[in-house]
Amino acid sequence: MEANPDGTGRPPACDLCGRPGVYLDRIQNRHLCSDHFVGDVEGRVNHTIQKYVMVQPGDRLAVALSGGKDSTVLLHLLRRLLPDADLAAVTVDEGIDGYRDATLRSAGATTRGLGIEHQTLSFLDLYGKTLDEILKGQPDRACSICGILRRKALNTIARRAGASKLVTGHNLDDEAQSVLMNWLRGDRERVLRRPEENGGHGFIPRVKPLREIPEKEVALYGILKGLFVELPECPYMHSALRGEVRGILTTLERGHPGTMRRVVEGQVRLSRQLSSIPRASRPLRACERCGDPTTARLCQACRLFDPEGGPGTLVSPER
Ligand code: SF4
Ligand code: ZN
Repeated sequence: MEANPDGTGRPPACDLCGRPGVYLDRIQNRHLCSDHFVGDVEGRVNHTIQKYVMVQPGDRLAVALSGGKDSTVLLHLLRRLLPDADLAAVTVDEGIDGYRDATLRSAGATTRGLGIEHQTLSFLDLYGKTLDEILKGQPDRACSICGILRRKALNTIARRAGASKLVTGHNLDDEAQSVLMNWLRGDRERVLRRPEENGGHGFIPRVKPLREIPEKEVALYGILKGLFVELPECPYMHSALRGEVRGILTTLERGHPGTMRRVVEGQVRLSRQLSSIPRASRPLRACERCGDPTTARLCQACRLFDPEGGPGTLVSPER
């Protein structure tokens, strides 16, 4: 909520209707009241879904619901914007002590409230160990290890749920961070990847309806809709490069509103313009351990568990 510079202590008026404003849109330099803010967010999410043709007739959507704010808002928005869509919620329990239990309860309450089918898969069931156990001695690699294992777990549970699309709650901040991290890592393949370019070969295609909505707007939408309870933060959150990139982008956005949007839009334009450049993609084959598609002998998740290089042995291969 913005303070009114006129010194009256009253919130600035909504530029569209004159009612008390709750949000200053610094890109368009306008104040919005609660109703106009909510309508604006819903309109932009709807536009993103249409623009990227994220949902097609006959789709069954598995919504990755962590129980945190982004995915909770996402599920509510999808139910509201796509009332006839075939929705299921899927949750991965990584096994993070002091964090996951609360978000799992939140996820359960959300799906019960909306009457949406909900399935959960734990790292313990899929890999034989919790994330806490896997990370013993290497907490600095938490998010990269978690990311690889969660991607596989989400794909597995979405497949079990019979989904044709996996819908995730990544917001504009997440997307801008990923673009910058891809450049910082020199990951040419990801820098050139178009947003539509995923899925196939055993991977459920992923779509991100919140990819153009800043994190703070997702949070305010949830607050105005009364969706959140206070939840703990993942204890590993600050261990990654992503945390530093997030700090840099937040500072830039404060001084130069629209930075994150330009970073993301720039990547989309660049990837489309360069789409004809041949990429050194190696042919996909089945992972020798679990059968998932991979370009190497073992998929990324199974490589983590390789006794020669990883922290343990995959006990429960899929398929
Ligand atoms: Fe996993 Fe890192 Fe997210 Fe925690 S913050 S759930 S470790 S990716
Ligand atoms: Zn208004």
